[in-house]
This record gives sequence, structure tokens and C-alpha cells, in this order.
Amino acid sequence: MTDLEFIEQSVARREATILDANDKIWSYAELPYEEYKSSALLCDILEKEGFAVEKGVAHIPTAFTARYSRGTGHPVMGILGEFDALAALSQQAATPSKSPIISGAPGHGCGHSCLGTGALAAALTVRDYLDAYEKDGAIIYYGCAAEEGAGAKQFMARDGLFDGVDFVYTWHPASRNEAQQHCSVAIMGANFEFFGRSAHAGGSPHLGRSALDAAELMSVGVNYLREHMIDQARVHYAYVDAGGTSPNVVQDHSLIKYEVRAPKVHQMKELFERVVKVARGAAMMTETEMKYEITMAFSDYVSNDVLGRFATQCMMEVGAPRWDDDDYALAKAFLESYDPVTLDAIKAEIASKYGAERLDTLLAKPLDAEIHPYKDGPHPYESGSTDVGDVGYAVPTLNLNVATCCLGNVGHTWQMTAQSCSSLGHKGLLTAAKMLALCTVRTMQSPETIAAAWEEFRAKTGGVYHCPLPDDVMPPVGRY
Ligand SMILES: [Zn+2]
Repeated sequence: MTDLEFIEQSVARREATILDANDKIWSYAELPYEEYKSSALLCDILEKEGFAVEKGVAHIPTAFTARYSRGTGHPVMGILGEFDALAALSQQAATPSKSPIISGAPGHGCGHSCLGTGALAAALTVRDYLDAYEKDGAIIYYGCAAEEGAGAKQFMARDGLFDGVDFVYTWHPASRNEAQQHCSVAIMGANFEFFGRSAHAGGSPHLGRSALDAAELMSVGVNYLREHMIDQARVHYAYVDAGGTSPNVVQDHSLIKYEVRAPKVHQMKELFERVVKVARGAAMMTETEMKYEITMAFSDYVSNDVLGRFATQCMMEVGAPRWDDDDYALAKAFLESYDPVTLDAIKAEIASKYGAERLDTLLAKPLDAEIHPYKDGPHPYESGSTDVGDVGYAVPTLNLNVATCCLGNVGHTWQMTAQSCSSLGHKGLLTAAKMLALCTVRTMQSPETIAAAWEEFRAKTGGVYHCPLPDDVMPPVGRY
């Protein structure tokens, strides 16, 4: 029996359990740091399968590790799983017109129900493989909570949970099948608070000092800063507390959230310091007090080309999900559910990635049925951020993108929620499980690949993990 045949049988044997777990986690749709039922379900399955589970790691109740070790326990192999949902993306399963189950409730609009359960199937399959072939090694499933919140993986890395691990694979639900080649950017988030003095806005305005003015001046200042930052940088903000609802009272308190992104951690930190200076200036101008609290930060994702090339071969061996006519029809309905402006942008993207001559064929059957080749760096940056980046600074790491939704699908949408509990999500996550398992067992048996991945990792990252967060910043459990 080939490795792939073994893996296919192992995944097939657990198919019902895995898909049931996906559909349950999908229906729980728990927000970051609140994934108690989802986390417990995954832990239960892993414990029953003989994994040693440690719950509540890195000061996050819903984060966990699950380890299965055989013989010498080396090499040590990691697989990352996520399982949190997004606010206000509730949607009926497999339904291509907007119809929330509960209006305003959370939904799996990033497909993390699929992510966590596909990774689970892969970890269990690697365990089967170690046993069946009496191999030395340890497989660790990382239960990574709150990726959509302030993250977990950077706290896990800071606590040394990736120390001694030889390599890590993960995946993300996507519209294409490919080892991830683009980099994601580093991000830091903070709350800026201003404290002023209330007064009657009509009767004694000269006695008031407005915290709302300070927040507004901070945003004006940051908007001028935008002209003088690097192209790939981004600054986002949201008012959390504008100081009240009465215009005739000078607002004595305001809170504004900022997020700063840039390709590299040091660029992100430099830009963040400039935003802090603007906040200080705003406080000075308004004679208010300012304090800020860093709430989150992720490192940029650095692709490991050694693992990228290696994994692409494994992905090609497994092959894309086997879509049938019903899948294509469902995907077409989802694609056509987008508004005309978004649909035009999607068509342009498909034409640029697949060639204009294939556009009509692909629009009729909009599912990725191929594995795209891996191109070595330098890799372009995409402006999203993920805490997988931090794992990539702790150990050689690779993310696979595997199709679970229609071509051109937009992430963080009700369309993604619906597809994550449909035949598209199911086929995608089972395919991802096989790919992750094959990548893992093949890498395990290739010490030269592990050595080369480490050489590249050390050259690109310096080889020592530095958490982008200050040491005293703890996971914002219960207050995110
Ligand atoms: Zn995601």
C-alpha cells in the first residue's frame, strides 16, 4: 500500500466523525476566546484517540495542545487547527441567498470549522501512520483559539509551546488549491483613551477639556500621517466610546481603537510609535490626558520555500477535491449571489489568475479543480494578517490553501459561512486532511528536507522567536 492509499483509507474511516464535528462546530459558531464547546469537542475526540491533551495553554481557556508520541518521539511534527467564528455572519448552511439562522449572530465566515476539523483528521491520520509502520515521532495538534480575535499562536509561541518542534503544517479554507506563496503583514492593535474635564458646553465651555476633540484630532493627525508612510502599510481605526450622547456636555472620556499594519514587525513597530506621537500631540492640543494599551500584535507570515516546494508535490499527488455537477451548480449559485460590482472584481481576478481565455468556462463551473505550482520568492505581500505568522518565526511553517468555496469567493462573508457547511466545505476539508497528512509523513521521513527548511528558516527569521507584544500583554480573554 502506498502512503497515499494508507492516508485515504484512514481519512475515509473517520469521515462521518470528522464531518459531524465540522457541522457541530459550524453550528456552535463561537466567537474568539469563547470557543468552549468547539474546543471541548476537538479535545474529546483527540483524547479518545490516545492523544495527551493539555487544555487552557498560554492563559487561554479554549487553547490546547494534543500530543501523540511513539518510540523516541522524534521528529516532532505540528499541525495547527483553528475553530473560532466571526460576528454577524450567521447564515443557513449551503444556502446561496442571504438568510441568517439568527440575524446578527456569529457565523463561520472564515471557514474555521473546516480548518479545525480538517487539521484534526490529519493529526489522527498521522497517528495511525506512526502506529501502523512503527515509526518514531510525535504529532502535536495545536488548538489555536481566537485567530479572528487578538490571536493565540503568538502567546503559545511566547510560552515556548513550539520549542523543539521540527516543522509545522497548517491549512486555510480558500477558493484555490496551492501552498501559500504570498506573505501576510504584521499588525499591532491598541486602545487609545483620552481623559478630559466635563463642563456645560453652553454655559462654561472654557472650563471643559474635550476628550472627543482629542480623539478627533488624533484621527486628523493620523490621516495626515498616511501620506508619509510606506505603500504597504495600513492604519485602521474605530470609535469605541465618543464620550457620550449629549452635545451640551463637554465629553470627558473617549476611547478609540487603532490597528497598524506593515510588512515587517520592525516597520509596523516604527509606524505604531508615530501613531502614538500623534496621540500625544492630540492630548497636548486639547489639554487632556492620554494613555494607550497595546491589545494585540501578529508577526508577518514568511513562506518557507523548501516546505512550499515539497508540499506542492504532495498536494499534486492527493489532487484537488473531486467536484461533481451538484458541487459546480452550488458554487455557481454562490458566485452569482455577489452584487454586480463585486462580481466584476471577481471576474477580473479569475481572468488574471487563470487567463482570460478560460474565464467563461470557469464562470460556468467555478471551483478550483487543479493544484497550482509553487513559485519561489520573493513573495508579494497581501494586506491581511494572521497569527500563523508567529508560528513561522518560531519553527519552519507552511500554510496550504485548499478550496472549500467558489472561485473568487470573498472571505468574511455570509457566502463563506454557508459554503463551510456544504458539500464544498466537506470535500475541501477532507482533501486538506489528506494533503496535511501526506505532507507531514513525507517530511518526517526526509531529514534532508527538514534540515533545508531549518536553514532557510534561520536565514529568513534569525532563528529565534521574538514576540511582537510587550511581555506584560496577556491574552484579552473575556474582554476582547
Ligand atoms: Zn481565517
